[in-house]
Amino acid sequence: MTHPVPHFINGAPVTSLHGRAAPIYNPATGEQSGTVPLAGADDVASAVAAARTAFPDWAKSPPLRRARILNRFLRILEERLDELAAVITSEHGKVFSDAKGEVQRGMEVVEFATGAPQLLKGEITENVGTRVDSHSLRQPLGVVAGITPFNFPAMVPMWMFPVALACGNTFILKPSEKVPSASILLAQWLKEAGLPDGVFNVVHGDKQAVDALLTHPDVAAVSFVGSTPVARSIHETATLHGKRCQALGGAKNHMIIMPDADMDQAVDALMGAAYGSAGERCMAISVAVPVGETTAKTLIEKLVPRIHALNIGPGMDPESEMGPLVSQQHRDKVRGYIDAGVAEGATLLVDGRAFRRQGYENGYFIGGTLFDRVTPDMTIYREEIFGPVLAVVRASSYDEAAALINAHQFGNGTAIFTRDGDAAREFANQIQVGMVGINVPIPVPMAFHSFGGWKASLFGDHHMHGPEGVRFYTRLKTITTRWPTGIRSGAEYVMPTLG
Ligand code: NAD
Repeated sequence: MTHPVPHFINGAPVTSLHGRAAPIYNPATGEQSGTVPLAGADDVASAVAAARTAFPDWAKSPPLRRARILNRFLRILEERLDELAAVITSEHGKVFSDAKGEVQRGMEVVEFATGAPQLLKGEITENVGTRVDSHSLRQPLGVVAGITPFNFPAMVPMWMFPVALACGNTFILKPSEKVPSASILLAQWLKEAGLPDGVFNVVHGDKQAVDALLTHPDVAAVSFVGSTPVARSIHETATLHGKRCQALGGAKNHMIIMPDADMDQAVDALMGAAYGSAGERCMAISVAVPVGETTAKTLIEKLVPRIHALNIGPGMDPESEMGPLVSQQHRDKVRGYIDAGVAEGATLLVDGRAFRRQGYENGYFIGGTLFDRVTPDMTIYREEIFGPVLAVVRASSYDEAAALINAHQFGNGTAIFTRDGDAAREFANQIQVGMVGINVPIPVPMAFHSFGGWKASLFGDHHMHGPEGVRFYTRLKTITTRWPTGIRSGAEYVMPTLG
Protein backbone atom coordinates (compact mmCIF):
# COMPACT_ATOMS: atom_id res chain seq x y z
CA MET A 1 0.00 0.00 0.00
CA THR A 2 1.42 3.35 -0.96
CA HIS A 3 0.02 6.62 0.34
CA PRO A 4 -0.06 9.98 -1.46
CA VAL A 5 1.41 12.82 0.61
CA PRO A 6 -0.50 16.11 0.21
CA HIS A 7 0.73 19.68 0.12
CA PHE A 8 -0.50 21.74 3.11
CA ILE A 9 -1.83 25.14 2.10
CA ASN A 10 -3.96 27.61 4.05
CA GLY A 11 -4.51 25.22 6.95
CA ALA A 12 -5.55 22.16 4.93
CA PRO A 13 -4.02 19.24 3.05
CA VAL A 14 -4.41 19.74 -0.71
CA THR A 15 -3.61 17.65 -3.73
CA SER A 16 -1.46 19.12 -6.46
CA LEU A 17 -2.87 21.02 -9.40
CA HIS A 18 -0.69 18.81 -11.65
CA GLY A 19 -0.08 15.14 -12.16
CA ARG A 20 3.68 15.32 -11.57
CA ALA A 21 4.68 13.08 -8.68
CA ALA A 22 7.68 11.12 -7.38
CA PRO A 23 7.87 7.82 -5.48
CA ILE A 24 8.90 7.64 -1.80
CA TYR A 25 10.88 4.59 -0.69
CA ASN A 26 11.62 2.83 2.58
CA PRO A 27 15.44 2.66 2.42
CA ALA A 28 15.61 -0.41 4.68
CA THR A 29 13.48 -2.55 2.36
CA GLY A 30 13.73 -0.76 -0.98
CA GLU A 31 9.93 -0.84 -1.22
CA GLN A 32 7.87 2.11 -2.39
CA SER A 33 5.86 3.48 0.51
CA GLY A 34 4.12 6.45 -1.07
CA THR A 35 4.12 9.20 -3.65
CA VAL A 36 4.84 12.87 -3.30
CA PRO A 37 3.39 15.55 -5.58
CA LEU A 38 5.85 17.83 -7.39
CA ALA A 39 4.43 21.34 -7.33
CA GLY A 40 4.26 23.61 -10.32
CA ALA A 41 4.36 27.41 -10.25
CA ASP A 42 0.59 27.62 -9.64
CA ASP A 43 0.75 25.36 -6.54
CA VAL A 44 3.52 27.60 -5.23
CA ALA A 45 1.51 30.72 -6.10
CA SER A 46 -1.45 29.43 -4.13
CA ALA A 47 0.76 28.80 -1.06
CA VAL A 48 2.35 32.24 -1.37
CA ALA A 49 -1.10 33.86 -1.69
CA ALA A 50 -2.27 32.09 1.49
CA ALA A 51 0.86 33.15 3.38
CA ARG A 52 0.56 36.71 2.11
CA THR A 53 -3.08 36.98 3.20
CA ALA A 54 -2.25 35.58 6.65
CA PHE A 55 0.75 37.88 7.16
CA PRO A 56 -0.76 41.21 8.34
CA ASP A 57 -2.76 39.74 11.24
CA TRP A 58 0.04 37.38 12.27
CA ALA A 59 2.63 40.18 12.17
CA LYS A 60 0.38 42.36 14.36
CA SER A 61 -0.40 39.62 16.89
CA PRO A 62 1.37 40.10 20.23
CA PRO A 63 4.64 38.12 20.43
CA LEU A 64 3.39 36.52 23.65
CA ARG A 65 0.39 35.10 21.76
CA ARG A 66 2.70 33.70 19.10
CA ALA A 67 4.90 32.25 21.83
CA ARG A 68 1.93 30.53 23.47
CA ILE A 69 1.04 28.77 20.22
CA LEU A 70 4.64 27.57 19.91
CA ASN A 71 4.45 26.37 23.52
CA ARG A 72 1.39 24.28 22.72
CA PHE A 73 3.18 22.95 19.62
CA LEU A 74 6.11 21.97 21.84
CA ARG A 75 3.84 19.96 24.13
CA ILE A 76 2.34 18.14 21.11
CA LEU A 77 5.85 17.32 19.89
CA GLU A 78 6.75 15.94 23.32
CA GLU A 79 3.68 13.69 23.31
CA ARG A 80 4.14 12.48 19.71
CA LEU A 81 7.91 12.31 19.48
CA ASP A 82 7.86 8.57 18.72
CA GLU A 83 5.29 8.97 15.94
CA LEU A 84 7.35 11.64 14.18
CA ALA A 85 10.61 9.74 14.67
CA ALA A 86 9.10 6.55 13.19
CA VAL A 87 8.03 8.48 10.08
CA ILE A 88 11.56 9.88 9.74
CA THR A 89 13.11 6.41 10.05
CA SER A 90 10.71 4.94 7.50
CA GLU A 91 11.64 7.51 4.82
CA HIS A 92 15.23 8.44 5.69
CA GLY A 93 16.51 5.15 7.10
CA LYS A 94 18.36 6.48 10.17
CA VAL A 95 18.00 4.46 13.38
CA PHE A 96 14.93 5.27 15.49
CA SER A 97 16.93 6.60 18.50
CA ASP A 98 18.81 8.97 16.17
CA ALA A 99 15.51 10.11 14.59
CA LYS A 100 14.24 10.89 18.11
CA GLY A 101 17.46 12.80 18.75
CA GLU A 102 16.96 14.98 15.68
CA VAL A 103 13.39 15.82 16.72
CA GLN A 104 14.63 16.74 20.20
CA ARG A 105 17.29 19.05 18.76
CA GLY A 106 14.55 20.67 16.63
CA MET A 107 12.33 21.06 19.70
CA GLU A 108 15.11 23.04 21.35
CA VAL A 109 14.72 25.66 18.62
CA VAL A 110 10.98 25.78 19.32
CA GLU A 111 11.83 26.30 23.01
CA PHE A 112 14.17 29.12 22.02
CA ALA A 113 11.47 30.69 19.83
CA THR A 114 8.97 30.68 22.71
CA GLY A 115 11.11 33.49 24.10
CA ALA A 116 9.73 35.74 21.31
CA PRO A 117 8.67 38.63 23.61
CA GLN A 118 12.19 38.84 24.99
CA LEU A 119 13.93 38.15 21.66
CA LEU A 120 12.08 40.95 19.89
CA LYS A 121 12.75 43.65 22.48
CA GLY A 122 14.30 46.71 20.91
CA GLU A 123 16.58 49.42 22.25
CA ILE A 124 15.84 52.95 23.39
CA THR A 125 18.03 55.97 24.02
CA GLU A 126 16.56 58.93 25.82
CA ASN A 127 17.77 62.39 24.78
CA VAL A 128 19.74 61.61 21.64
CA GLY A 129 19.30 65.37 21.23
CA THR A 130 17.57 67.91 23.45
CA ARG A 131 14.12 66.46 24.17
CA VAL A 132 14.62 63.97 21.30
CA ASP A 133 14.44 60.20 21.92
CA SER A 134 15.37 57.34 19.64
CA HIS A 135 14.26 53.71 19.66
CA SER A 136 14.90 50.77 17.42
CA LEU A 137 12.81 47.69 16.85
CA ARG A 138 12.84 44.60 14.70
CA GLN A 139 9.90 43.86 12.40
CA PRO A 140 9.06 40.73 10.38
CA LEU A 141 9.93 40.49 6.68
CA GLY A 142 6.67 39.02 5.32
CA VAL A 143 6.37 35.67 3.52
CA VAL A 144 9.56 33.64 3.95
CA ALA A 145 10.47 30.28 2.42
CA GLY A 146 12.54 27.35 3.71
CA ILE A 147 14.04 24.73 1.37
CA THR A 148 15.45 21.74 3.19
CA PRO A 149 17.59 18.60 2.57
CA PHE A 150 16.77 14.93 3.02
CA ASN A 151 19.09 14.22 5.92
CA PHE A 152 17.14 15.94 8.72
CA PRO A 153 13.45 15.81 7.72
CA ALA A 154 12.30 17.50 10.97
CA MET A 155 15.30 19.21 12.55
CA VAL A 156 16.43 21.38 9.64
CA PRO A 157 12.90 22.75 8.97
CA MET A 158 12.80 23.41 12.75
CA TRP A 159 16.05 25.41 12.50
CA MET A 160 13.97 27.81 10.43
CA PHE A 161 10.21 28.06 10.94
CA PRO A 162 9.92 28.38 14.77
CA VAL A 163 12.13 31.49 14.71
CA ALA A 164 10.51 32.86 11.54
CA LEU A 165 7.00 32.44 12.99
CA ALA A 166 7.97 33.80 16.41
CA CYS A 167 9.25 36.94 14.66
CA GLY A 168 5.86 37.42 12.94
CA ASN A 169 6.57 36.07 9.44
CA THR A 170 4.45 33.57 7.54
CA PHE A 171 6.25 30.55 6.15
CA ILE A 172 6.37 28.20 3.16
CA LEU A 173 8.37 24.99 3.60
CA LYS A 174 9.64 23.08 0.56
CA PRO A 175 10.99 19.89 2.15
CA SER A 176 13.13 17.29 0.40
CA GLU A 177 10.96 15.20 -1.90
CA LYS A 178 12.75 12.09 -0.57
CA VAL A 179 11.37 12.56 2.97
CA PRO A 180 8.15 14.59 2.69
CA SER A 181 5.87 13.11 5.37
CA ALA A 182 7.41 14.64 8.52
CA SER A 183 6.62 18.14 7.27
CA ILE A 184 2.91 17.34 6.97
CA LEU A 185 2.79 16.10 10.58
CA LEU A 186 4.50 19.34 11.67
CA ALA A 187 1.95 21.41 9.70
CA GLN A 188 -1.01 19.52 11.19
CA TRP A 189 0.35 19.84 14.72
CA LEU A 190 1.02 23.57 14.33
CA LYS A 191 -2.62 23.98 13.30
CA GLU A 192 -3.74 21.90 16.27
CA ALA A 193 -1.64 24.17 18.51
CA GLY A 194 -3.71 27.14 17.31
CA LEU A 195 -1.65 28.52 14.43
CA PRO A 196 -3.96 30.51 12.11
CA ASP A 197 -4.48 29.14 8.60
CA GLY A 198 -1.97 30.28 6.01
CA VAL A 199 0.77 31.10 8.53
CA PHE A 200 2.62 27.81 7.83
CA ASN A 201 2.34 26.07 4.46
CA VAL A 202 4.11 23.12 2.83
CA VAL A 203 4.65 22.65 -0.90
CA HIS A 204 6.48 19.57 -2.11
CA GLY A 205 8.53 19.46 -5.25
CA ASP A 206 11.80 19.68 -7.07
CA LYS A 207 13.68 22.44 -8.92
CA GLN A 208 10.45 23.68 -10.52
CA ALA A 209 8.87 24.46 -7.13
CA VAL A 210 12.12 25.96 -5.84
CA ASP A 211 12.50 28.23 -8.86
CA ALA A 212 8.90 29.41 -8.45
CA LEU A 213 9.66 30.37 -4.82
CA LEU A 214 12.95 32.07 -5.70
CA THR A 215 11.37 34.27 -8.35
CA HIS A 216 8.01 35.00 -6.72
CA PRO A 217 7.77 38.73 -5.97
CA ASP A 218 5.87 38.16 -2.70
CA VAL A 219 8.57 35.96 -1.11
CA ALA A 220 10.77 38.23 0.99
CA ALA A 221 13.47 35.82 2.14
CA VAL A 222 14.76 32.30 1.54
CA SER A 223 16.51 29.95 3.93
CA PHE A 224 18.17 26.98 2.27
CA VAL A 225 20.08 23.94 3.52
CA GLY A 226 21.48 21.37 1.08
CA SER A 227 24.45 20.64 -1.15
CA THR A 228 26.93 23.36 -2.12
CA PRO A 229 26.23 23.62 -5.87
CA VAL A 230 22.51 24.07 -5.18
CA ALA A 231 23.17 26.43 -2.23
CA ARG A 232 25.38 28.63 -4.40
CA SER A 233 22.81 28.83 -7.19
CA ILE A 234 19.90 29.42 -4.77
CA HIS A 235 21.78 32.31 -3.19
CA GLU A 236 22.57 33.83 -6.58
CA THR A 237 19.00 33.55 -7.88
CA ALA A 238 17.31 34.68 -4.64
CA THR A 239 19.53 37.74 -4.22
CA LEU A 240 19.16 38.60 -7.91
CA HIS A 241 15.41 38.72 -7.25
CA GLY A 242 15.90 41.06 -4.30
CA LYS A 243 15.41 38.50 -1.53
CA ARG A 244 17.34 38.11 1.67
CA CYS A 245 18.99 34.66 1.54
CA GLN A 246 20.95 32.33 3.80
CA ALA A 247 22.06 29.16 1.97
CA LEU A 248 23.93 26.48 3.88
CA GLY A 249 25.90 23.99 1.79
CA GLY A 250 27.99 20.84 2.08
CA ALA A 251 30.92 19.92 4.27
CA LYS A 252 34.11 17.95 4.73
CA ASN A 253 34.76 17.99 8.45
CA HIS A 254 38.22 17.14 9.78
CA MET A 255 39.16 15.90 13.23
CA ILE A 256 42.75 16.39 14.35
CA ILE A 257 44.03 13.81 16.82
CA MET A 258 47.08 15.11 18.66
CA PRO A 259 49.68 12.70 20.11
CA ASP A 260 48.59 13.61 23.67
CA ALA A 261 44.86 12.90 23.04
CA ASP A 262 42.93 10.33 25.07
CA MET A 263 42.90 7.76 22.24
CA ASP A 264 39.96 5.71 23.52
CA GLN A 265 37.86 8.84 23.83
CA ALA A 266 38.96 9.97 20.36
CA VAL A 267 38.08 6.60 18.82
CA ASP A 268 34.62 6.53 20.47
CA ALA A 269 34.05 10.06 19.20
CA LEU A 270 35.17 9.19 15.66
CA MET A 271 32.95 6.10 15.47
CA GLY A 272 29.82 8.11 16.26
CA ALA A 273 30.83 11.13 14.20
CA ALA A 274 31.88 9.22 11.07
CA TYR A 275 29.35 6.37 11.03
CA GLY A 276 26.33 7.74 12.95
CA SER A 277 23.38 8.30 10.57
CA ALA A 278 25.53 6.44 7.97
CA GLY A 279 27.64 9.59 7.57
CA GLU A 280 24.65 11.48 6.13
CA ARG A 281 25.19 14.49 8.40
CA CYS A 282 26.61 17.84 7.41
CA MET A 283 28.53 17.76 10.70
CA ALA A 284 29.81 14.17 10.26
CA ILE A 285 33.57 13.77 10.55
CA SER A 286 34.79 12.42 7.22
CA VAL A 287 38.52 13.10 7.62
CA ALA A 288 40.66 12.01 10.57
CA VAL A 289 44.06 13.70 10.81
CA PRO A 290 46.33 11.92 13.30
CA VAL A 291 49.48 13.91 14.08
CA GLY A 292 52.59 11.74 14.08
CA GLU A 293 53.13 8.14 12.95
CA THR A 294 52.55 6.63 16.42
CA THR A 295 49.20 8.41 16.73
CA ALA A 296 48.18 7.19 13.26
CA LYS A 297 49.18 3.59 14.03
CA THR A 298 47.31 3.50 17.36
CA LEU A 299 44.25 5.17 15.88
CA ILE A 300 43.97 2.69 13.02
CA GLU A 301 44.58 -0.34 15.24
CA LYS A 302 41.71 0.75 17.46
CA LEU A 303 39.34 1.85 14.66
CA VAL A 304 39.45 -1.18 12.34
CA PRO A 305 37.89 -3.76 14.70
CA ARG A 306 35.26 -1.24 15.80
CA ILE A 307 34.18 -0.63 12.19
CA HIS A 308 33.98 -4.37 11.50
CA ALA A 309 31.80 -4.74 14.61
CA LEU A 310 29.29 -2.01 13.62
CA ASN A 311 25.75 -3.32 13.82
CA ILE A 312 24.17 -2.26 10.54
CA GLY A 313 20.49 -2.90 10.01
CA PRO A 314 17.00 -1.45 9.63
CA GLY A 315 16.42 1.70 11.64
CA MET A 316 13.51 0.27 13.64
CA ASP A 317 15.66 -2.62 14.97
CA PRO A 318 16.80 -1.39 18.41
CA GLU A 319 20.09 -3.29 17.95
CA SER A 320 21.02 -1.30 14.82
CA GLU A 321 23.73 1.33 15.23
CA MET A 322 23.69 2.41 11.59
CA GLY A 323 20.88 2.25 9.05
CA PRO A 324 20.85 2.23 5.24
CA LEU A 325 21.59 5.17 2.96
CA VAL A 326 18.63 7.21 1.77
CA SER A 327 18.33 5.88 -1.80
CA GLN A 328 19.72 3.33 -4.20
CA GLN A 329 21.13 6.17 -6.31
CA HIS A 330 22.96 7.62 -3.32
CA ARG A 331 24.32 4.19 -2.35
CA ASP A 332 25.67 3.76 -5.88
CA LYS A 333 27.28 7.20 -5.66
CA VAL A 334 28.99 6.35 -2.34
CA ARG A 335 30.21 3.02 -3.76
CA GLY A 336 31.55 4.98 -6.75
CA TYR A 337 33.58 7.20 -4.38
CA ILE A 338 35.09 4.10 -2.75
CA ASP A 339 36.04 2.79 -6.24
CA ALA A 340 37.64 6.19 -6.96
CA GLY A 341 39.61 6.11 -3.70
CA VAL A 342 41.04 2.69 -4.61
CA ALA A 343 41.80 3.80 -8.18
CA GLU A 344 43.59 6.93 -6.93
CA GLY A 345 45.85 4.92 -4.64
CA ALA A 346 44.43 5.31 -1.11
CA THR A 347 44.78 2.26 1.15
CA LEU A 348 41.37 0.67 1.71
CA LEU A 349 41.46 -0.85 5.20
CA VAL A 350 37.75 -1.62 5.64
CA ASP A 351 35.58 -2.02 2.54
CA GLY A 352 31.82 -1.58 3.00
CA ARG A 353 30.85 -2.01 -0.65
CA ALA A 354 29.80 -5.65 -0.47
CA PHE A 355 27.78 -5.38 2.76
CA ARG A 356 24.39 -7.14 2.66
CA ARG A 357 21.91 -7.45 5.51
CA GLN A 358 20.11 -10.78 5.60
CA GLY A 359 16.37 -10.36 5.12
CA TYR A 360 16.89 -6.82 3.78
CA GLU A 361 18.67 -7.61 0.52
CA ASN A 362 16.82 -4.85 -1.34
CA GLY A 363 17.64 -2.18 1.27
CA TYR A 364 20.20 0.53 0.48
CA PHE A 365 22.82 -0.70 2.94
CA ILE A 366 26.53 -0.14 2.76
CA GLY A 367 29.15 -1.07 5.35
CA GLY A 368 31.41 1.26 7.31
CA THR A 369 34.50 2.05 5.22
CA LEU A 370 37.98 3.23 6.20
CA PHE A 371 40.74 4.59 3.95
CA ASP A 372 44.30 5.25 5.09
CA ARG A 373 47.03 7.31 3.40
CA VAL A 374 44.56 9.62 1.71
CA THR A 375 46.18 12.70 0.16
CA PRO A 376 44.66 16.15 -0.52
CA ASP A 377 44.64 15.69 -4.31
CA MET A 378 42.32 12.65 -4.17
CA THR A 379 38.62 12.93 -5.08
CA ILE A 380 37.62 11.22 -1.82
CA TYR A 381 39.38 14.03 0.04
CA ARG A 382 38.25 16.99 -2.04
CA GLU A 383 34.56 16.12 -2.36
CA GLU A 384 31.79 15.49 0.13
CA ILE A 385 30.84 11.78 0.02
CA PHE A 386 27.93 11.90 2.52
CA GLY A 387 28.25 8.25 3.45
CA PRO A 388 29.97 6.07 6.08
CA VAL A 389 33.44 6.54 4.59
CA LEU A 390 36.24 7.86 6.80
CA ALA A 391 39.51 9.05 5.25
CA VAL A 392 42.72 9.12 7.30
CA VAL A 393 45.15 11.83 6.19
CA ARG A 394 48.41 11.55 8.12
CA ALA A 395 50.11 14.78 9.25
CA SER A 396 53.56 15.17 10.76
CA SER A 397 52.75 18.27 12.82
CA TYR A 398 49.88 20.33 14.18
CA ASP A 399 50.71 23.10 11.69
CA GLU A 400 50.45 20.69 8.75
CA ALA A 401 47.09 19.38 10.03
CA ALA A 402 45.65 22.87 10.55
CA ALA A 403 46.91 24.03 7.12
CA LEU A 404 45.02 21.14 5.49
CA ILE A 405 41.76 22.28 7.05
CA ASN A 406 42.32 25.92 6.18
CA ALA A 407 43.04 25.04 2.55
CA HIS A 408 39.87 22.98 2.09
CA GLN A 409 36.96 24.47 0.15
CA PHE A 410 34.48 23.65 2.95
CA GLY A 411 34.42 25.15 6.44
CA ASN A 412 31.38 23.76 8.22
CA GLY A 413 32.62 21.94 11.34
CA THR A 414 35.90 20.64 12.75
CA ALA A 415 37.34 19.20 15.95
CA ILE A 416 40.62 18.69 17.75
CA PHE A 417 41.30 16.01 20.34
CA THR A 418 44.09 16.99 22.68
CA ARG A 419 45.00 17.60 26.33
CA ASP A 420 47.11 20.63 25.36
CA GLY A 421 45.24 23.85 26.15
CA ASP A 422 47.69 25.89 24.13
CA ALA A 423 47.15 23.84 20.94
CA ALA A 424 43.38 23.87 21.51
CA ARG A 425 43.34 27.64 21.94
CA GLU A 426 45.45 28.18 18.82
CA PHE A 427 43.07 25.88 16.91
CA ALA A 428 39.91 27.65 18.08
CA ASN A 429 41.45 31.02 17.29
CA GLN A 430 43.02 30.39 13.88
CA ILE A 431 41.03 27.68 12.13
CA GLN A 432 38.93 28.86 9.15
CA VAL A 433 35.77 26.94 10.05
CA GLY A 434 32.40 28.09 11.42
CA MET A 435 31.84 25.49 14.17
CA VAL A 436 34.72 24.16 16.22
CA GLY A 437 34.89 21.35 18.79
CA ILE A 438 37.59 20.93 21.43
CA ASN A 439 37.37 17.25 22.38
CA VAL A 440 33.80 17.44 21.01
CA PRO A 441 33.46 15.65 17.65
CA ILE A 442 30.18 17.17 16.41
CA PRO A 443 30.04 20.72 17.76
CA VAL A 444 26.47 21.53 16.70
CA PRO A 445 25.55 24.74 18.53
CA MET A 446 22.55 24.66 20.85
CA ALA A 447 19.37 26.47 19.76
CA PHE A 448 20.24 29.68 21.63
CA HIS A 449 23.54 29.94 19.71
CA SER A 450 23.59 29.98 15.91
CA PHE A 451 24.47 27.26 13.38
CA GLY A 452 26.51 27.89 10.26
CA GLY A 453 29.76 27.23 8.45
CA TRP A 454 32.28 29.31 6.54
CA LYS A 455 33.62 29.26 2.97
CA ALA A 456 31.66 27.01 0.55
CA SER A 457 29.52 25.74 3.47
CA LEU A 458 27.44 28.94 3.70
CA PHE A 459 26.37 31.62 1.23
CA GLY A 460 24.90 34.71 2.85
CA ASP A 461 25.57 36.66 6.01
CA HIS A 462 23.47 34.99 8.67
CA HIS A 463 23.79 31.66 10.44
CA MET A 464 20.62 29.81 11.48
CA HIS A 465 18.55 29.92 14.68
CA GLY A 466 19.70 31.64 17.89
CA PRO A 467 20.37 35.39 17.72
CA GLU A 468 21.43 35.20 14.05
CA GLY A 469 18.08 33.59 13.19
CA VAL A 470 16.19 36.47 14.81
CA ARG A 471 18.29 38.95 12.85
CA PHE A 472 17.71 37.07 9.59
CA TYR A 473 13.94 36.94 9.98
CA THR A 474 13.51 40.59 11.02
CA ARG A 475 14.59 43.97 9.80
CA LEU A 476 15.61 46.88 11.88
CA LYS A 477 13.64 50.08 12.15
CA THR A 478 14.90 53.11 14.10
CA ILE A 479 12.47 55.80 15.17
CA THR A 480 13.47 59.29 16.30
CA THR A 481 10.83 61.20 18.27
CA ARG A 482 10.35 64.79 19.36
CA TRP A 483 7.05 66.02 20.82
CA PRO A 484 5.94 69.60 20.24
CA THR A 485 6.98 71.84 23.15
CA GLY A 486 5.62 75.12 21.87
CA ILE A 487 9.19 76.44 21.51
CA ARG A 488 10.01 77.03 17.83
CA SER A 489 13.60 76.90 16.65
CA GLY A 490 12.83 77.75 13.03
CA ALA A 491 13.80 75.88 9.87
CA GLU A 492 17.23 74.17 9.91
CA TYR A 493 19.10 73.73 6.63
CA VAL A 494 22.26 72.06 7.92
CA MET A 495 22.78 68.55 9.28
CA PRO A 496 21.44 68.53 12.83
CA THR A 497 24.30 68.09 15.34
CA LEU A 498 24.52 68.26 19.09
CA GLY A 499 26.87 71.21 18.77
P1 NAD B 1 20.24 18.84 -2.28
O1 NAD B 1 21.04 20.08 -2.50
O2 NAD B 1 20.20 17.82 -3.35
O3 NAD B 1 18.70 19.22 -1.99
C1 NAD B 1 18.34 20.17 -1.02
C2 NAD B 1 17.01 20.79 -1.39
O4 NAD B 1 17.15 21.48 -2.64
C3 NAD B 1 15.89 19.78 -1.59
O5 NAD B 1 14.70 20.33 -1.07
C4 NAD B 1 15.82 19.60 -3.10
O6 NAD B 1 14.52 19.29 -3.55
C5 NAD B 1 16.24 20.95 -3.62
N1 NAD B 1 17.00 20.88 -4.87
C6 NAD B 1 17.78 19.86 -5.31
N2 NAD B 1 18.33 20.16 -6.49
C7 NAD B 1 17.90 21.40 -6.81
C8 NAD B 1 18.13 22.27 -7.91
N3 NAD B 1 18.94 21.93 -8.92
N4 NAD B 1 17.53 23.48 -7.91
C9 NAD B 1 16.72 23.84 -6.90
N5 NAD B 1 16.47 23.05 -5.84
C10 NAD B 1 17.05 21.85 -5.77
O7 NAD B 1 20.73 18.22 -0.90
P2 NAD B 1 20.32 16.82 -0.23
O8 NAD B 1 20.95 15.72 -1.01
O9 NAD B 1 18.87 16.77 0.04
O10 NAD B 1 21.04 16.95 1.20
C11 NAD B 1 22.37 16.63 1.43
C12 NAD B 1 23.25 17.85 1.38
O11 NAD B 1 22.81 18.81 2.32
C13 NAD B 1 24.69 17.56 1.75
O12 NAD B 1 25.54 18.25 0.87
C14 NAD B 1 24.82 18.10 3.16
O13 NAD B 1 26.11 18.48 3.56
C15 NAD B 1 23.93 19.28 3.08
N6 NAD B 1 23.51 19.71 4.40
C16 NAD B 1 24.10 20.83 4.90
C17 NAD B 1 23.76 21.26 6.17
C18 NAD B 1 24.40 22.48 6.74
O14 NAD B 1 23.98 22.90 7.79
N7 NAD B 1 25.39 23.09 6.11
C19 NAD B 1 22.83 20.54 6.93
C20 NAD B 1 22.24 19.40 6.39
C21 NAD B 1 22.60 19.00 5.10
